[in-house]
Amino acid sequence: MPTEGKDHSAQKNILEGPSKKRGRGRPANIDPSVVVGSADTYRLWFKQFWSKVGPRLLAARSSEEIARAVRENAPDISVSLAPHSELILKILRDPKFPAVRSTSQIHFLADSLGGQGFVKPRRSREICAEERNKVRHVIVRQEYYIECSCGYKGPALDGACRECGTGELSRDLMVKKNY
Ligand SMILES: [Zn+2]
Repeated sequence: MPTEGKDHSAQKNILEGPSKKRGRGRPANIDPSVVVGSADTYRLWFKQFWSKVGPRLLAARSSEEIARAVRENAPDISVSLAPHSELILKILRDPKFPAVRSTSQIHFLADSLGGQGFVKPRRSREICAEERNKVRHVIVRQEYYIECSCGYKGPALDGACRECGTGELSRDLMVKKNY
């Protein structure tokens, strides 16, 4: 599995926790992108370990059993999960916790944990849903201004002249661009 920068930062967020800035009597100020970033990392982790650790988590009757299951069946992630054993037990006992499909179970647990206890599991899931529904626009085309010997002046099309289609640069331009 390729590791991307994004995953690393999410992992860092999980290990270090979100900023603990608090307003007076207010809940912790947690960045929604941190919540969904952590949830995404948890989703990947649980997907990787679920076949072993899932059944034990579902059968656990105490936070100690949760911690033990994680330690024994998913040692790579136990450092990050152990502090949340109590919270994990609470999430698994939520009447809304999916009864069957493991993918649904993984997503519910991961998204509930995204807030890492700084926000309630339900709020954490809401934040994840809101963030995932946000439309993020991206630049799908990047053009630059050209003047072609055919007379065309304006934006290029995929790096070529929109009029005659050439993508070839003049000698002068090649010299200037150090080709
Ligand atoms: Zn042209």
